[in-house]
This record gives sequence, C-alpha cells and structure tokens, in this order.
Amino acid sequence: MDCNPRSLLFILPLLLSCVIPAFPVIYPPNEVNLLDSKASQGELGWISYPSHGWEEISGVDEHYTPIRTFQVCNVMEYSQNNWLRTNWIPRQSAQKIYVELKFTLRDCNSIPLVLGTCKETFNLLYQDTDDDQGSHFREHLFTKIDTIAADESFTQMDLGDRILKLNTEVREVGPMTKKGFYLAFQDVGACVALVSVRVYFKKCPYIVRNLASFPDTIPMDSQSLVEVKGQCVNHSKEEEPPRMYCSTEGEWLVPIGKCLCNPGYEERSNTCQMCRAGFYKSTLGNMECSKCPPHSVSHHEGSLHCGCEKNYFRAEGDPASMACTRPPSAPRNVISSINETSVILDWSWPEDAGGRRDVTFTVLCKRCRGGAANGSNGGNLRCEPCRSNVHFLPRATGLHNTTVTVGDLLAHTNYTFEIEALNGVSSLAPKMRQYAAVTITTNQAAPSPVTVIRKEKTSRNSVSLSWQQPERPNGIILDYEIKYYEKEEQETSYTILRARGCNVTLNGLKPNTAYLLQIRARTAAGYGATSPSFQFETSPDSFSISSENSQVVLIAISSAVAIILLTVLLYVLIGRFCCHSKSKHPDEKRLHFGNGHLRLPGIRTYVDPHTYEDPSQAVHEFAKELDASCIAIDKVVGAGEFGEVCSGRLKLPSKKEICVAIKTLKGGYTDKQRRDFLAEASIMGQFDHPNIIRLEGVVTRSKPVMIVTEYMENGSLDSFLRKHDAQFTGIQLVGMLRGIASGMKYLSDMGYVHRDLAARNILVNSNLVCKVSDFGLSRVLEDDPEAAYTTRGGKIPIRWTAPEAIAYRKFTSASDAWSYGIVLWEVMSYGERPYWEMSNQDVIKAVDEGYRLPPPMDCPATLYQLMLDCWQKERNNRPKFEQIVSILDKLIRNPGSLKITANTTSRPANLLLDRSSSEVPSMGTLGDWMDGMRTLPCKEAFSGVSYSSCDTLAKTSTEDLKKVGVTIVGPQKKIVSSLKALDSHTKNGPVPV
Ligand code: AMP
Repeated sequence: MDCNPRSLLFILPLLLSCVIPAFPVIYPPNEVNLLDSKASQGELGWISYPSHGWEEISGVDEHYTPIRTFQVCNVMEYSQNNWLRTNWIPRQSAQKIYVELKFTLRDCNSIPLVLGTCKETFNLLYQDTDDDQGSHFREHLFTKIDTIAADESFTQMDLGDRILKLNTEVREVGPMTKKGFYLAFQDVGACVALVSVRVYFKKCPYIVRNLASFPDTIPMDSQSLVEVKGQCVNHSKEEEPPRMYCSTEGEWLVPIGKCLCNPGYEERSNTCQMCRAGFYKSTLGNMECSKCPPHSVSHHEGSLHCGCEKNYFRAEGDPASMACTRPPSAPRNVISSINETSVILDWSWPEDAGGRRDVTFTVLCKRCRGGAANGSNGGNLRCEPCRSNVHFLPRATGLHNTTVTVGDLLAHTNYTFEIEALNGVSSLAPKMRQYAAVTITTNQAAPSPVTVIRKEKTSRNSVSLSWQQPERPNGIILDYEIKYYEKEEQETSYTILRARGCNVTLNGLKPNTAYLLQIRARTAAGYGATSPSFQFETSPDSFSISSENSQVVLIAISSAVAIILLTVLLYVLIGRFCCHSKSKHPDEKRLHFGNGHLRLPGIRTYVDPHTYEDPSQAVHEFAKELDASCIAIDKVVGAGEFGEVCSGRLKLPSKKEICVAIKTLKGGYTDKQRRDFLAEASIMGQFDHPNIIRLEGVVTRSKPVMIVTEYMENGSLDSFLRKHDAQFTGIQLVGMLRGIASGMKYLSDMGYVHRDLAARNILVNSNLVCKVSDFGLSRVLEDDPEAAYTTRGGKIPIRWTAPEAIAYRKFTSASDAWSYGIVLWEVMSYGERPYWEMSNQDVIKAVDEGYRLPPPMDCPATLYQLMLDCWQKERNNRPKFEQIVSILDKLIRNPGSLKITANTTSRPANLLLDRSSSEVPSMGTLGDWMDGMRTLPCKEAFSGVSYSSCDTLAKTSTEDLKKVGVTIVGPQKKIVSSLKALDSHTKNGPVPV
C-alpha cells in the first residue's frame, strides 16, 4: 500500500476521462461564463500561499486536451492554512454570480495515521475590488462564501477500481458592487483536488416570442422580475404592446401582447417574410400568405393583392380573396311568343357567367323599319328606340329571371329586342359586352277601347259628346260605333250611331232621363273592345244646363272627389307611419342588449342569437360554414350533452393544417336541440380574444352537424390541475388566472354574462394558456352536471354562483366576478371541490350567513384577499374584471408579494371563514368546536366516533377519518390539522385569532 496520501492525488488527472463529460461542454444559453478553468490550456497563474500548499498540476482529458487542476494533500501535518487565489475576475454587468466547483476529496478514514490532522472540507471565499491587485494578497480582505464539503469522498479502494467520485458544488454570491473580484480556496488540512472552477452569471438570453424580440437581459439580484418591452420584428406591428418578465433564474416568464406581420408579409420561423410571387396577404395578421385567386397574378414578392390577368377584372367591393372575373357571355336560345301586340321573350342563362353570381339581364327594345329583319343592326334596317309607353313586365333592366313580357307594342310592326347579360364587371369592359338579339313582327290587332268620354252640352232632348282616340288604335280608325239606351230599360232597346270623328250629338232624347252609352272603334282588323258605360242625363223640362254650368258642376264634383282622395291618402300615410313606428326595425331587433347593459357606441356588443327569428341566420352570420371534407376526426376526447367531442385536424384550402376540437350533434335530434347546439357557435363566433376559445366554423349543411374550435391539448382546467397537484410555481398559477380574468374582462366589455364560470369550463392548451369556454344560454346550465334546480325553477351551479343569482336570478358581470373568486380558489387548491362534499342547501345557508371558503394551503395572502373581495355580498363592491387583471399584473411584476401566505391554522375552528363579523368566534370547548363544524358534511360522520376527550380527537388520523366515511382529501387534511390545532389550543389556552 502506498502510504503517501499526496501521491494518490497525483494520478488524478490521468483518471479524469472517467469523470469529466466529453468535450465540447455546452453550457445553458442563459449562463455567461466569467471564468472557466477548463478553457485555459496554459498555466492559470493563480497565487498559492504558502508555496508548498496548493499545487498547480497539468493533465489531459480524454481528448488529450491539457487541463489545469490544483491539489493539496497535507493531511499529516497540523495547523494547515493553504490559500489559493484566482486572478482578478471582472464582474461585467452581473449582480449575482455563481461559482461551480468540481473537485474530488479523499476520505480521511481511508488514509492511515492521519486521525486528528486530516480534514474533509475546505473554504470558499471572495474579495470584491475595483481593480486588479496583482500578486498583492491579504487574507483578512476575503469574505467567506461557504465551507465546501464533499457529497462523495473516495477511498483508495475506489481508486483501485478506477472509480473517482467527482463532486460538483454551486454557490451564489451577490450582490456584487465593485468592478471585479477574486475567489480564494482555503485548505485547512484536507486531501483535495480542484478539478475545475467555473464562475458565471445568469441572463435571460435574446429571444423572439410572438414576433417581438427581447434583448439579452441581466436579472436583478433581488426577488423582483425585470419587465422587458419587446421590439416588433421587422415588417410587423404591435397588436398589444409585447412584454415579458426576466426572472432572477434567467428565465423569461409570462409573455403578454404580440406583434402581427404587416400586409404582404407572413410569419416564418419567428420572422415576417415577404409573400412569395404568386401569393398575397392584404391584412395585418399572422395568417399565411394566400395563393393568388384564379385569374390573378402577383409577379413580385410581398404583394398585398394580386392583379387581374388580361380581360379579367375586379369590381369595386370584391374582396382580394375573390377570383378576377369578366363580363358574361350573351344569353342563349332566345324564344319569342307573340300575342297580338305583346310578346313574351324567353332565353337561357349565358354559357359563361364570367365567374360571378351577380348576373342580371337587360332588354333593349328597338322599333325597326325597312330592310329584312335579320336580328342585327346591319343591312338597311333603320332602328330607333321604342316609345316610352311600351311596357315591360316585370321590368326592362336588372332582371334576375330569364323571361320578360313586353306589351303595348304597335300592331303589325317590326321590333328588335337586344337581351344583354350583365354582371358586376360589365361596366369595366364595355368592349367585351355581348348580347343576343331577336326581331319580331307584331300581329294585326283590333284597337284598344276608348277610355275618355266627355259630355260637352246637354239640353232637354239632346246631348253633345266628345272622346279621345284609343291609346293603341293598332291601325287606321275607320269609324266609331256609339251605342246608347235609357238606363231604366236595361239594354232591351238601344240606338246605334256611327261617327268618323271623335264627337257626336245625340238628338231626340227624353227630357230628364238617364242614359248609358258605350263607344268602340273600328279598324281594318275589326272592332276594338267597347268602352266602359258612360252615363248622362238630359235636362228637365224647366231647366236647361248650359255647358258653362255643366263645367261648374264638374269642377265641384272633381273638387269633392279630390278632397276625398286627399283624405284617404293622408289616412293611409298616417296609418303607415304609425305601423312603422310600432314595428321593430330589423336592425333594432337585433340590437338586443344582453342583460340590460347599455353599451357605448363604438364598442362591439354581443348579440343574443335568440333575438333572431331564424336562428340558422344567426349561426351563418357569426360562424363560417366548413366543408366536412376539410375535417379529419382522430379520436374521442370528451362527451358533451349533444354528442361526442373529438380531436382532429382541419385543412382549409391554402391554409396550414391545424389541430381542432370537433363537437358533434348525435343523430335523432329535434329541431330545438339543433338550435340549442348551434347557439353556442353563434355566441362563440362573436368573440375574438386570446383567452376565449376560438371558433373555426360549423358544419350544418351535411351530417353530422359539427362545431369546430381550436384544440386545447391539456383539456379542462380542473382535471388538469388535479393531475398536476402542487407542480406549478406561484407565478405560473397567477399567469393562468390572469388569462382567465382577461378573457372575462373581454366578455363583460361585450356585455356577455357567462353564468357558468368554473374551472371545468376553462380549457388549457400546451402553453398553459387558459381560455374561457362553454357558451350558451339556458343550455349551458342544462348541460352542466353541477347545475341543480333552485326553488325558483332554473338550474344553477350553486357552488360557483353569487347569492343574488341563486335567490332571484340576478346574473350580471358582478355575479361572474363571484364565480371568478371560486375559480381562483379552485386553481390555488389544485382542483379541490369548492365546499368539499357539503350539500348544496348547506352551501347556500352558510354563504348567506356570511361564511366563506378558507384560504387553500400555501395560498398567497393577496390572492386570498382577492377571493374575499369577489365574494362580497354587495355585488357593487366586488372588483370589476379590469381591476382583477390589473391586480394580477402587479403580482406578476412583483412576485415577492406571493411569498406571504394566508394563515389557515390561526383560525382552526372554522373550515368556512366568517367574513361578516370582524372577529371569528373563538372556540372554547370541544362542543363549541363541533358546532363550528356544523356546516360540514363530516359532522354526521363524527357522530359515529366516540370523542370523549380532546386527546382522542387530536389523535384522530386520516385513516380514522376514512373509516368514518370522510374520504375527500381536502376535508381530511383540514380536519386533521384542525384537530391538531385544537389539541394545542386546549393544552395551551385559546388560540389567538
Ligand atoms: P363541453 O361539452 O364543451 O363541456 O366539452 C366536453 C369535454 O370535451 C371537455 O370537458 C373537454 O375535456 C373536451 N373539450 C371540449 N372542447 C375542447 C377543446 N377545444 N379542446 C380540447 N378538449 C375539449
């Protein structure tokens, strides 16, 4: 055996290959080295004092790269004080530095004859100085950082087996204030080899997150985080100012806000890159550039939109995503059916609608003379526009159907009709317009009836009459036939006269007698229809009316008729006005403000889909219809009231494939179930916020009916927290809570009251971002297994609901704030059930009496205070969501404040805290204490246990509680800790409250 322990150490460097990790060593990106002894291949030049103490030894690692180590092993001698001092290390900007030592240490027991002199520790010290003091070295200027002991020491046996126990120790030093510092290692008689010394500080390294770049940031030495504002990357703009927090550990926390790529740019690997040629992006956002729509091109990179190919156009108002289009081709297969002086024109839809749906038809009427009708303007056909009295049914322009009736044409006349198909871009390409023409000749037709007859002069035995030529004589009028008879004789005897002109005098009439008269015109085509009967009366014997008098009478009658007509007109107008003011304007109807909130103009407001007469209109207004072929279902992830919830993928044309959740409506549904199912999509589709679950679209035109939303990898928050009990830092929990509060602020700003805010209705994605989900109206509560019927009817999730909402259904954003307080409690207790297994009735009673949930274990006092504020009985005293967001932001900025926890054990007697009285009643006796437990479900359970003394109770364990049926972890833990506290209370006197 080699008795010189020092010689054992000299072989150390040769063995380093066993213990030093293979080169190159990669350090974490958030650590910046100030010194790394392994990186130095020459002499380190550190000062060793006295000179026979620490020795610098060269060795090689497994790559035969030289490394420097220091060793000392004066274990046989008393009073060792060997110092090794590094060179001066400039501090750079670090406030707190870390010293990482790798060393081996020989076990004193393994060295013979050294008992009493051999040590197994050495000291680490530092000196903070502004300048390099060279070889000037004074012990007393050094401050001790720590005594370093080995976790693993080695014996010679280990060496024999070639196992070296390398220790790694890290110590923090700070805050450093001078420009630099020295480190020193003081040996007091150990056998130690210092294999490597690394000195570093931590920084939050440069990072690009949400398209904002955050520079290298040195954390503060204290507990507080450094808030850093991000700089939007090139070609992007802020949506919400980006910021993050740099922790003392050099980690970036809680990203808030983001930047969006400018139009013409898309997000690619954390940068905004120009759209490639053939692609475009017209809006700000992080969506991908889209391929140019059909018949459009972009030759350059970074296009905001694509230009149309030759002979293709975009109408004003056409979106950039729409294909370029052209005027339609001419209508086809025009057929005319002539009926005397009217014609029905029918045609077929054009072969090419130009790629648009807004095709209408216009019919132009031309009257043509001379030449053969050949359907065009050519030849010697002279055409002129038709007279304005030609009638089109339904009209001549803007026709949506392919038929029109043209009436009141002239008989026996040539007409040409030009039928043109027009669309939204026809006006942009006049030269490309095409029409179909048809030429017709109207038939011979009898004249239209005489409609206007006037009485010119009346006497006892005669009357003079005149009339107007028929509106459409349809030829030359040869004469008029006038037929008249005494009114009383009812056409049993009549007289017929003929006249060439438009007037006649009838003689030989009876005085004071009423006559009826009809006139019809005659052309070569025969008689036209007779006029309506015209009545006149001859004068009485003693009285003769001059034509002047008759005119006065006529004026009087006309005036009376005019007055009557005016009155009727006025009545109709007023009636309409009143009806209008009574009936709801459709828009007015839609502006139904949820929950009686009056919204400010300019702020987008939630529209209740139930105000739509046709709910499917609401769903199509707010949700995109998706083609079922774009959706691939992978697996079932949950069960909703209406059917399964699946995960899957959605691939829309020219979009990236994304993961989605798909809610399905199971077969055999009623109309009402379909409406209720889709109402959730109509509501969700109105929201756009990073903390509200995003709707991708709906499938309603094929079966099964589906609602497609973004996929949240971690599912619902309550089960997620239960799965990861106690695994998150306070800051991570507050980050999640801030997200929920921010989503709720958005909802309350929109005027939407959630009514069922609970951790089970929050979804969590892979980045721990929480999003509010489960929207609907009554449906939500029907759907929720937590909802119970109240005495007033409706179903309410009692444990999460504010007292006024339970008592008289007063649901407001303030009642949502109460529920938020419960969610806060659920989060801080990692998914514990609020009020444990108390019955709903007991919960209502306890809350009404002023009791409140106690702080969850290790809950920061500030957060518990926030819970209590949310649970104020007076709803106006509860914080608004905006205030909640700002309180949580402050906590994130100053995480030190999370360290003060709300004290549960100081209030041992009540599991529910009484907020209404400022003092919690102190529990003097065991009986009082059991009374204090009266609202607990466990009370009955205790009746089965004998608790004759406090001692027996204090010894009650979780196991005992299980035996009596208390199986829920929350009450178990709390009952056991309460019993312990009660035990000390009875032994030491009352517990201060
Ligand atoms: P719901 O009908 O909305 O309560 O959904 C039932 C269950 O399906 C939830 O508890 C979740 O586990 C799951 N789920 C619903 N939506 C999503 C989503 N967007 N991402 C992931 N899981 C979801």
